[in-house]
Amino acid sequence: MLRIATAVSLAGLAWALASCSSTESLGRKNTSRTFRTVVVDAGHGGRDSGTVRRFGPPEKAVTLDVAQRLNRKLRESQFRTVMTRNSDVFIPLDQRVDIGNRQGNSVFVSIHFNDARRRGIRGFETYYSSPYAVSLARRIQQKLLTMPGASNRGVRTANFRVLRNAVYPSVLVECGFLSNRNEGGRAGSSSYRELLADKISEAIVEERYGTGVYDAPPRLGPPPSLLRAENSAGGAAPAAGTR
Ligand SMILES: [Zn+2]
Repeated sequence: MLRIATAVSLAGLAWALASCSSTESLGRKNTSRTFRTVVVDAGHGGRDSGTVRRFGPPEKAVTLDVAQRLNRKLRESQFRTVMTRNSDVFIPLDQRVDIGNRQGNSVFVSIHFNDARRRGIRGFETYYSSPYAVSLARRIQQKLLTMPGASNRGVRTANFRVLRNAVYPSVLVECGFLSNRNEGGRAGSSSYRELLADKISEAIVEERYGTGVYDAPPRLGPPPSLLRAENSAGGAAPAAGTR
């Protein structure tokens, strides 16, 4: 979850009206059909736990796990990958953007889980800012919706910093609501996180190379390194309500 999410629609509108020139000066590049590198961004980390709810693990732990799985799958599909973090560390948003903008011919994929006051709210959301990222965002959302019990909250534009300041096509995936009993509980399952990573990976491969070429079936059970990461992250997690 990004904390500015509630202000997105108004802020996004104001930004769109006021800053056409800054969009131009950003020099956005359309690499959506040529990219060889995928920058995988695990949301939050370190002192920033993201959403912490009792139904599932802290957001920073599950974003890292999904990102690591996604990273492995993309490498198996012959992409070059760069992770903005690969452990439980705090990385400022601007630094994440800089890492992405330094990778030529790339796309940027940020992994998050969502939060809401109303526990009944559930579903996947995929965000973009650059028009060059619309197609990738839609494809990721479509693939996520093929998961059993998936609920659709749509493909949306947003003013998130990792999207707004990105030179290359950049999307942010909200992989379900940790505040929802069902989706929060599922986020705690390694096989469910593997499936999430698989769907996102499939979408990225198809966006680049076309439909029907993806060949990296999900593996059940986490790799040993992820088990250790989960255990340590779980032990250090702050109590609900401290974020
Ligand atoms: Zn988040």
